[in-house]
Amino acid sequence: MIIVGSGPAGLTAAIYAGRYLLDTLVIGELNGGTISEASEVCNFPSYKNITGLELTKKLVEHVEHLGVEIKQEIVEKIEKGENFVIKTNNSIYRARAIILATGSKKRKLNVKGEKEFLGRGVSYCATCDATFFKDKKVAVVGGSDAALTAAILLSEYAEKTYIVYRKSKFFRAEPTWIKQVENNKKIEPVFNSNIIEIKGSNKVEEIILDTGKKLSVDGVFVEIGLIPNIELAEQLKLDLENGHIVTDKFQRTSLPGVFAAGDVTNNPLKQAITASAEGAIAANTAYEKIKRGD
Ligand SMILES: Cc1cc2nc3c(=O)[nH]c(=O)nc-3n(C[C@H](O)[C@H](O)[C@H](O)COP(=O)(O)OP(=O)(O)OC[C@H]3O[C@@H](n4cnc5c(N)ncnc54)[C@H](O)[C@@H]3O)c2cc1C
Repeated sequence: MIIVGSGPAGLTAAIYAGRYLLDTLVIGELNGGTISEASEVCNFPSYKNITGLELTKKLVEHVEHLGVEIKQEIVEKIEKGENFVIKTNNSIYRARAIILATGSKKRKLNVKGEKEFLGRGVSYCATCDATFFKDKKVAVVGGSDAALTAAILLSEYAEKTYIVYRKSKFFRAEPTWIKQVENNKKIEPVFNSNIIEIKGSNKVEEIILDTGKKLSVDGVFVEIGLIPNIELAEQLKLDLENGHIVTDKFQRTSLPGVFAAGDVTNNPLKQAITASAEGAIAANTAYEKIKRGD
């Protein structure tokens, strides 16, 4: 069996597959996937508070302890024949069953200056880059849990953190994060606003809002949501719903032998624990299928 993706869904599927002694390989571009970017995870059962990187390390250790190999490669093509043929940037593999756990990637702002200043002030990962902004001014764009937790983390380093949000108040984020933002004197929400341009000479210096307001900042952290990675699902012509893979409660997709789990599916809660749960079910269904010799 081949599991594509080494986020919580793929790694949990690997733990179950390892316990079932299935000949399993995980192929993932980034271990931990998006959870590796979470500064604090406070809702993964059995950890009151753990960083995304530490949770990733524990998941990877668990998988490797069971003898399942993780290859850091990118799957570029999957073809269906008698078996599945999986082509990566490095090699070709064959499998009888596939679990797609490809998760999602960050949505871009698509404004002038975003691409030009990537790595020179524009970032999509506060956990990775917050320390570069000690005593600086930064803006986080968005109003979700991810945006608010990014702002809370950044406020530990930056002298000032703006949260630029298009709505009039935060309503999508967890009340705990909203309260922490409201009580943090170094964070200033800027509501009813969108960034229309990021400006600077060598690096970010200013953002222009659609209200006409200009803010001097050294960094812009974009947290405006995620886009599911469905390129492989499209190649396999799987049924999709709102850009996500449709699965049944056994994590079967519309193509026999292909299962899907985590943020790439049409599940209603995009979290590490639900991704892990779907990974466990997908591995179990795949195991039943392989055992039957289907
Ligand atoms: C900033 C932030 C904070 C968060 N905080 C929390 C939190 O506190 N609690 C919580 O429960 N959830 C949190 N989440 C959500 C959580 O991260 C996701 O729900 C979870 O990671 C989904 O897991 P997944 O395995 O489905 O997908 P992902 O984590 O997105 O993993 C996808 C995997 O697929 C790989 N991949 C994709 N395409 C390919 C390809 N073609 N070839 C090879 N590999 C590929 C990626 O490299 C990655 O390994 C947060 C998310 C963000 C962005």
